[in-house]
Amino acid sequence: MNKKIIASSVLIILTIVIGYQFFELDIFNRVTAEDLRLKGKTIMLDPGHGGTEQGAKGIKHGTIEKDLNLKVAKNIKKELEERTDAKVIMTRDTDTSILSGTDLKKELQARVDLVKKNSADIYVSIHHDAFQDTKAEGITTHYAPSRSQDKKLAKIVQEAIFAQKIDTRNRGVRASDYLVLKENTVPAILIELGFTSNENDEERMNSEEFQDKSKKGIADGIINFLSRR
Ligand SMILES: [Zn+2]
Repeated sequence: MNKKIIASSVLIILTIVIGYQFFELDIFNRVTAEDLRLKGKTIMLDPGHGGTEQGAKGIKHGTIEKDLNLKVAKNIKKELEERTDAKVIMTRDTDTSILSGTDLKKELQARVDLVKKNSADIYVSIHHDAFQDTKAEGITTHYAPSRSQDKKLAKIVQEAIFAQKIDTRNRGVRASDYLVLKENTVPAILIELGFTSNENDEERMNSEEFQDKSKKGIADGIINFLSRR
């Protein structure tokens, strides 16, 4: 083989390698408008508590957590349906529990089972916190320990919420041993959107402005995560 042939072979190989990398980076990894529509994806939203189990209760304004969780989840569902073609399912869309009994463990497992039954790609649970110390405030997104995809989802959603310039403490993401998180086999997070036990948080979580910003932020995070998978 003469030098010319070797040189042109090298050139051809280089062109293929560089071209492929460029092609791969630029075309395959780019999030397209079609990706953002999330066609074929199923999102499970779980408004925490319901029925006889009311969750936290606001100290100053008497906010009932189960009702606010449902309202917020409905807002997020609407936002996702407007912006994507994903199928959005809720574990409950009225003030009820999933099972008729009062066994909390079974009730939580029933919510996880719905994820499997509906072949959902992602699980997002909506809650509002409460704590003895009324100074505790802010938003936390929980994920199951040692689950990198769940942690990634938690980080993306938490960041997207605060990108909406929300005026409360960013408590960050936290690895938590919750049944609905650890029993799920798809990326799962639980968002606590503020403390009903804190006066400022309670007022904020009931405001239309906050509900609007948080629904947009959470939808942004979910879309961002699912578009990159
Ligand atoms: Zn709760």
